[in-house]
Parts: sequence; C-alpha cells; structure tokens
Amino acid sequence: MKKFPRSAYVHIPFCHRRCFYCDFAVIPLGNKIESLNGNGSKTVKEYLNFLNKEILSIKHKSPLSTIYIGGGTPSILNPLQINDLINLFRENYRIDYGAEITMEVDPASFNEEDLHGFIKAGINRFSLGAQSFNNQILDQAGRRHSRQDIEKSCFWLKRAYEVGLIKSWSLDLIQNLPSSGFEQWQEDLEKSLSFRPPHISIYDLTIESGTVFKKLVDLGKLSLPNDDESFKNSEITNSILKKSGYSRYEISNYSLPGHQSRHNRVYWSGLGWWSFGQGSTSSPWGEKFTRPRISKDYKKWVTEQCEIKLDPSLLNQENIYKELDEKIMLGMRLKEGINIYKLINEQNWDDKKSKISLKILLKEWDRFIESGHLIKRGNRFFLSDPKGMELSNPILVSMFRWWEKVS
Ligand code: SF4
Repeated sequence: MKKFPRSAYVHIPFCHRRCFYCDFAVIPLGNKIESLNGNGSKTVKEYLNFLNKEILSIKHKSPLSTIYIGGGTPSILNPLQINDLINLFRENYRIDYGAEITMEVDPASFNEEDLHGFIKAGINRFSLGAQSFNNQILDQAGRRHSRQDIEKSCFWLKRAYEVGLIKSWSLDLIQNLPSSGFEQWQEDLEKSLSFRPPHISIYDLTIESGTVFKKLVDLGKLSLPNDDESFKNSEITNSILKKSGYSRYEISNYSLPGHQSRHNRVYWSGLGWWSFGQGSTSSPWGEKFTRPRISKDYKKWVTEQCEIKLDPSLLNQENIYKELDEKIMLGMRLKEGINIYKLINEQNWDDKKSKISLKILLKEWDRFIESGHLIKRGNRFFLSDPKGMELSNPILVSMFRWWEKVS
C-alpha cells in the first residue's frame, strides 16, 4: 500500500530585518507590518494567496499528524491568518486527533493576546527563537529583540503550558555567537532553565556565505570561539542540561520526557513530508525538491506548476528510497543511532557485495569505537554523548568516502 506523507512544513518567509548570520529564504519587511494595523501588508497577503494555491495543488491529500509553520518569522502573521492556514489543512487534508501543530515565534513580534489567538487557531506547540539572553550579543547578531522581550515571551509560554493550553514549547539558543564566552554561555543556559521549557534546541553558529558575519570574518573583525572553546561550551551545555533532566535525543535537541519534536523526527527518520512555500524543501517520496528562493520565481513556479503542469515533486510517485549514505547521516544524528545491518539488507545488494561493503565500513568504524566517539550495542551503532555528538564529522566523512567506493 502506498504511504502518503503525514507531515507538512509551511514556510513564512517574512522577517522584520535580516539577522547578521542568516542566509535563509527571507523577505525583510521592516516595520511595514505594524503600519498596516496587523492586517498584513500587500506583500504578505499576496504571498499567502500563492501559498494557499500550492497547498491545494496536492492531489491525494491525506490526514496530517504534524504541521510545522516555520520561517522567517511566522509570528509576523496575525492569528486570523494562522487560523486560515490551519483551516485550509483541516478542510482539505484533515488533521489527526492529537496532531502536533508547531509555530515558530520570535520575541518582540507577538504579545500575549496574539499568543492566545494562535492557540485558538490550533497551534499546540511553539518554538521560541531566543538565541541569547544577552542584549549586547543579540545586538551584535542583528537581532531585533531584547532580553526583556524573551523573558516576557517565556513567561507567557510557560503559563500557557502550565494551564494546559499548549502541549509543549521549545526555547532555541545559538551556541558560540561572537562575544559569548564560557561564563556568558552558562548564564544563558541557567536563565533558559529558569523557565523550564520542555524542549531546548541548541544550534551551533555557522558562518554562511553572503551574510554580514561572513564579511566580518573575512575582514578579521569577528571574534569567534576557537575549537577548544566551542568544545568546552558544548560540554557544559550537555552537563547542565542533563543534570536538569533533559535528554539529548538528537545532536542539537534536548527534551524533557515526552517532549521530543515529532515533526523534526520525521526529517531525521527518513519519513516523507510535504513542504510549502518559497525556498522550502519537500521530500514526499524520498527525493528532495526545493522551491525557488526568490519571490518572483516562486510565484511563477506556483502558477506554472500548480495550474498548468504539475511538477513531479507534487505528483504521487512510487516511494524512492533515500540513498544509504543519507539514511546513515540522518540516523546518526539521533540518540538511538542506526542498525547498519538492517540498512544494508534493505539495499537489495547481492550477498557478496553486502558482506564486503559491510566489512569495509565496520573496519573504518573500528577506530572511532576505539577512540570512544562511536558505540556499538547489539546491531546498533550510535554516537557517544558528548564526545561523538560534538565530533561526528570525521565519522561521517569516512562513511561518505566508503559510500563513494561501494555505490
Ligand atoms: S529572524 Fe530568523 S529567519 Fe529571520 S532573519 Fe533572523 S535568523 Fe533569519
């Protein structure tokens, strides 16, 4: 029986301005939104029309068990617009009872009344992009919000969670931002824990080309923690969060029991998902497809592909299995790791090829087991925590080299 995706990602590309480290597909709107009394600017309304068309273009719409509204800054939309979006899925796809419906929110882009409006619209999990509690660090990163904004947002979210209005919420931080030393980072962690968010995501800063940070790095004007300092930060993150009852279920994600992100697990577990909106990537049948990142091109694509000829990524095809290297890479991010024997069996290789390929890979991995980066338990291989989780790159590089040889 054909399995249809049960998860949908929706991309809302609007932000007030572009942060200095960000290379996402975003449209900076300045204060245009506020000046229109929250009803949404013309740009936003126009985008939502195209987004709706794209969402409706899927032929076999099956009930969804997770929806994730990300961005950009989805909280730039008003509760009515979020309500319309969720209703579109409710009426055309149906939403499972108990589905996880997440929305990313940015401090200073919503108030408590908006939050209740989003909840009324059907959102039951929020992800708050705090990044740091230090005003100077936030400023240097080009963020628009302050520590006070985060504190208010955390307080509203905590209260909504405690009275049962939402199922969960996540606080997101960025590790190794410029000027964030060891003491400062510990302060950020302690402050975050004072709100007891059920889920915490810790992303490592990466310097992407085309960003303000990249220009500053090239000019030698950005002071970033070196490898040893970064490792020390990761170690303390791991130890503080674990002592506080959080489990690291994925390289960048920690949760209290029962609060893992169901939607994100779909990405890491290799299950299919729909994706809608400018610059977003879907993988309904295993093969990835990214929509145009530029507004004009995205609208043209929606018009051409959804109204005239459906793009293959929107057609229902037989499931195309992910390549083995991608399955290993994604599976290794998770605490439970992978069963390499099972994955190789699924390759439909003949016996000889399976045995030889497995032997070469296991030989490669022996040295990581010896160094304590990789753990073997029964048929499963997983990264040790924190050593392997922090230094997973050499393991993945050796696996990709192996894959090039055997594929
Ligand atoms: S708010 Fe998020 S998506 Fe928007 S520019 Fe900043 S980092 Fe990028």
